[in-house]
Amino acid sequence: MKCWTRREFGCAAAATCLAALRLRSARGQAKARIVVVGGGIGGATVAKYLALAAGAVDVTLVEPKRYYTTCFFSNLYLAGLRSFASLTHGYEALARRYRITVRHDAATAIDPGGQTVTLESGTKLPYDRLVLAPGIAFKDGTIDGYDDAAARIMPHAWMAGAQTKLLRGQLQEMKDGGVFVVVAPPEPFRCPPGPYERASLVAHYFKRYKPRAKILILDAKDTFFEQDLFQDGWNRHYPGMIEWLPAQFTGGVRAVDPKTRSIVTASETFRADVANVIPAQKAAQLAQQAGLTDGSGWCPVNPLTFESTLYRGIHLVGDAVTAGDMPKSAYAANSQAKACAFAIAAALTGAERFPAHLFNMCFTFLGPEDAVSDAISFKLAEGTIKIADIFFSKLEEGAAIRAQAVRQASGWYDAFTHDTFG
Ligand SMILES: Cc1cc2nc3c(=O)[nH]c(=O)nc-3n(C[C@H](O)[C@H](O)[C@H](O)COP(=O)(O)OP(=O)(O)OC[C@H]3O[C@@H](n4cnc5c(N)ncnc54)[C@H](O)[C@@H]3O)c2cc1C
Repeated sequence: MKCWTRREFGCAAAATCLAALRLRSARGQAKARIVVVGGGIGGATVAKYLALAAGAVDVTLVEPKRYYTTCFFSNLYLAGLRSFASLTHGYEALARRYRITVRHDAATAIDPGGQTVTLESGTKLPYDRLVLAPGIAFKDGTIDGYDDAAARIMPHAWMAGAQTKLLRGQLQEMKDGGVFVVVAPPEPFRCPPGPYERASLVAHYFKRYKPRAKILILDAKDTFFEQDLFQDGWNRHYPGMIEWLPAQFTGGVRAVDPKTRSIVTASETFRADVANVIPAQKAAQLAQQAGLTDGSGWCPVNPLTFESTLYRGIHLVGDAVTAGDMPKSAYAANSQAKACAFAIAAALTGAERFPAHLFNMCFTFLGPEDAVSDAISFKLAEGTIKIADIFFSKLEEGAAIRAQAVRQASGWYDAFTHDTFG
């Protein structure tokens, strides 16, 4: 009996796939069908790179919304520093340039045995490989009284779109001297610097238009990402305006009362004029209901291929997955999506298998002329994804470097959204 080396086995498997694909085309059969569910950052990137990397496949992207609004840079919109339209992206280029079939529909069920996805419209899409990038949902019952109705009064604005506009409108209507309360979630959550960047940019808006207003952050944690950089920025730009209360002071947020815009912690009740409640998070509903999550509420995946460890033939990328040390960020979702697309292409067509280059880079605004950044490269070690190298902006760097980071951030937004949707 022949003992295969891993390399021989990989080549043989790829050769078998390639032969199967050739046989399909020789018989005039359809190309391999890849369905991608979720047209956010992870899903749009994986669809585009699959279409590019594996010419012999049909890619269908399922996304209910006709336009995607980026969460990143939405805090600039809240501060009146960017228009809503500038955060909005359509799917025309993905359809036209890369021949991706875009279906504006929602996936309601997955049958891993029968290899089909059922859509809200009733259509059943058969697939050879399925990729899910459905993003996040909020954990039920972690804050008493916070439900969909409460979110219409105390918006989370953590899935950009109508919620972001609602929060902007409330901030504009708030009286000078009012209190804006941000409830910051426990780990792990989408965008670790996000709540604090939001406080910074709203403070900039208040300083200009409502100078007597105050911002209170009620945190579920005792420390937060880039805390020294944020607190230094708050002292320099908005002295006395932002107060941060860690969980050890309040005991954590327990409940809200939308009627009075009150937020109840273990030790005290706070009244807000505008409340931004960002609850604890988990993988989106579809991943939960398809049995793709584990006890953590997130989806476990093979860190090389982003294939689910619970169901073969189904891959997941983006905020919904557990990806070792990688944060839940758009950059990370895009980086995972490319690794996943190349792994699927290699498996289906025998194309060269690239080692995954997993990376994260993030620009964070402390003010309109003051941005900091972090850049992290990752490596595969001990069966998971670990930090290989890390860079952070420094506390002591001067105003010119921070202003330069603002310009770099703007260039990054254009290049990144083009890489994803263009
Ligand atoms: C305020 C804020 C600021 C941020 N700033 C940054 C930043 O500066 N840099 C950065 O890198 N990241 C940032 N992020 C994080 C970033 O937005 C997310 O990490 C990123 O969007 C995750 O991509 P995703 O594809 O996993 O999910 P999403 O982008 O949320 O996409 C999920 C998509 O799936 C669709 N979907 C869900 N269920 C279904 C279904 N059943 N059928 C079909 N489609 C479905 C949804 O409609 C959605 O379009 C920020 C986030 C916030 C909230």
